[in-house]
Amino acid sequence: MENFCVNCDCKLTAFNENYPLWNKSEARLCSKCQKKADFFLSWVYSQESALDFYNNSKQNLVEAGFSPHGISYLENYCRFVDDAKLAKDNARNEENLTDITKASPSPENKVAKILTITARAIFILGFVVGFFMLSDSLRLAFSYWVGAFICGIFFIGIAEIIKLFQKISDK
Ligand SMILES: [Zn+2]
Repeated sequence: MENFCVNCDCKLTAFNENYPLWNKSEARLCSKCQKKADFFLSWVYSQESALDFYNNSKQNLVEAGFSPHGISYLENYCRFVDDAKLAKDNARNEENLTDITKASPSPENKVAKILTITARAIFILGFVVGFFMLSDSLRLAFSYWVGAFICGIFFIGIAEIIKLFQKISDK
C-alpha cells in the first residue's frame, strides 16, 4: 500500500516515513514536514488545551508552508491530545473517588465483634465441658450443651442487633 504525506503529498518510503502521530491514525507526515511540525508540536503538550494552541498558531503553520490538509491533520492531532488529557483527568478523578470510598469503610463495630467472639467461646467451651460430663451423666452433658447453645445464640443475637443499628447510623 502506498502512503503519501498529508502535507506535501510526497510519496512516503522507508527513508522519509514517520509513524502516525496518534493512535488509530493512518495519516502521516514525511520526515521533512515532520521536522517543520515538531517545532510547533513541541509546544502542544505543555499547553492547557492543545486546540487553543492550534487556533493561536494556525497562521504560523500557514507561514511555515503547511497545506490546508496538513493543517487539518495537525488540528486532529491537537484534538487527540486534548482527548488524551481529558481521559487522563477523568481516570485521575475516578481514582480519587475510589480512594475516598476506600478511605472511609464503615468500621466494624467493636462491641459486636467482642460479642460474636464471646458467643463462639461459649459454644466451644460448652461443647467441650459437656463432652467431659458425658462420662458422668448424659443429662448433665446435655444441659451444658443446651445451656451453651442458648447462651451463645443470645450473644450472637445482640451482636446482630448492634451491627444492624451500626448500619442504620452509617447511612
Ligand atoms: Zn511532507
